[in-house]
Amino acid sequence: MKTWIPDARNFAYLNWKQVDTLPRESTLLVLPTAAIEQHGHHLPLATDTLINNLLLGHALAKLPPEMHVYALPPVHYGKSNEHIGFPGTLSVSAATFMAVLRDLGASVASAGFRRLVLYNTHGGNTSLIDVMARDLRAEFNLRTFALHGSGGIAFEGLSAQERAYGFHANEVETAFLLASVPELVDRSEYTVNYIADIANPELLLPENAPATFAWLTRDIAPSGVLGDPRPATAENGARWRDAAATRLAAALEAMVRYPTKPAT
Ligand SMILES: [Zn+2]
Repeated sequence: MKTWIPDARNFAYLNWKQVDTLPRESTLLVLPTAAIEQHGHHLPLATDTLINNLLLGHALAKLPPEMHVYALPPVHYGKSNEHIGFPGTLSVSAATFMAVLRDLGASVASAGFRRLVLYNTHGGNTSLIDVMARDLRAEFNLRTFALHGSGGIAFEGLSAQERAYGFHANEVETAFLLASVPELVDRSEYTVNYIADIANPELLLPENAPATFAWLTRDIAPSGVLGDPRPATAENGARWRDAAATRLAAALEAMVRYPTKPAT
């Protein structure tokens, strides 16, 4: 898999003696979690994993060199059973996903590290990330953190319709890939699918709402796209990538500085 993680921030490029010299209290390890799943007719299966690596790599490049922050190799497979029925989706169960995170947390803790952040870019993993951040905190006394997606940036230039109903293989995801791996975007295969119009809002939404329905993509999006990729540009993708990297870097710095002992 292509990577934008700076070599000096790539944990798996260290040898064990180098790992042994890292300061245990202040070093922050980042565990990326994403997915290999259908992203419509125009984006690759690895879209969420590529975006994770792209944004994290650019964020890590912004950190002061003396700050000890390293990216662990990503958990490529996620809980993607919302995309079952589309060839190419490779999903693991919630139990498997959580067991992998638990075992990796145990390994990090047994080496004496204290700070671990779960950086997730696949919506189907989000609730499990929240569970595991707390479980790893409780079981191993790790200081765990969760970091999601683009770090809450405003996505300047995105339409209100896309902001409300662009969920998957949408303008934002397409723009990120156009800015980084345009050869993996098939611009002749864009499809558009909205489950509702902002002028006629639905009460029941798939997520981020007080009333939701449990959704499978095949129920609501025959092509696998939830949104409109057509307005996506490499220029917007690069702007949003840089804005996200700035926000994610600030969050990582705050996690490095977060006290591991309660205030007295
Ligand atoms: Zn995606």
